[in-house]
Amino acid sequence: MDKLKKKVASPGEFLSTEEEFIPGKNTFEENGEIFSSNTGLIVEDLKSKEISVKSSSEPVKIKSGSVVFGRVDVVKDSSVLIEMQNIYGADKKVFTSSFAVLPVRNVSRDYVERLRDFFKIGDLVKAKVAKILPGNNIDLETSSSPDFGVVKAFCSRCRKPLHLFGSTLKCTSCGNTEGRKISNDYLLK
Ligand SMILES: [Zn+2]
Repeated sequence: MDKLKKKVASPGEFLSTEEEFIPGKNTFEENGEIFSSNTGLIVEDLKSKEISVKSSSEPVKIKSGSVVFGRVDVVKDSSVLIEMQNIYGADKKVFTSSFAVLPVRNVSRDYVERLRDFFKIGDLVKAKVAKILPGNNIDLETSSSPDFGVVKAFCSRCRKPLHLFGSTLKCTSCGNTEGRKISNDYLLK
């Protein structure tokens, strides 16, 4: 578990002793004491016992393996176009090229007959960057973990958010049931 202290460290500022923490990113150690080498928020990882400084000037860069959240813009026969909104774990919502493609072959390990049964326009999706192609075209995938897929879906009849009951998405407003490539992290249960 990360504990983000609401405290900004300056370069050279004392953070902790080596008895309490091990030095992480943007820190350095001297005579058993840990100091910040940068300006940023102090982060204490209580699990790994690591203290680090999250530099606010560091640009959030999307790379292969990044986990992103985005909204389904278009569903075609062969791919889903997703407007990315955030990188998982990043504190800034920054995207220059904000669209990514989820090709049908990257959706699931199971056979996907109709992509429209797995994703619909407006769905909020958690996915992983499979690769970044020349021209900054981004390919996503949702097949490598049950955590990836739709985290919030909307009723195609009345547009209300769908709730997950077992493995079925149901609209509590109009009673409609729908299917999706549902993430383990589905928000409304
Ligand atoms: Zn409905």
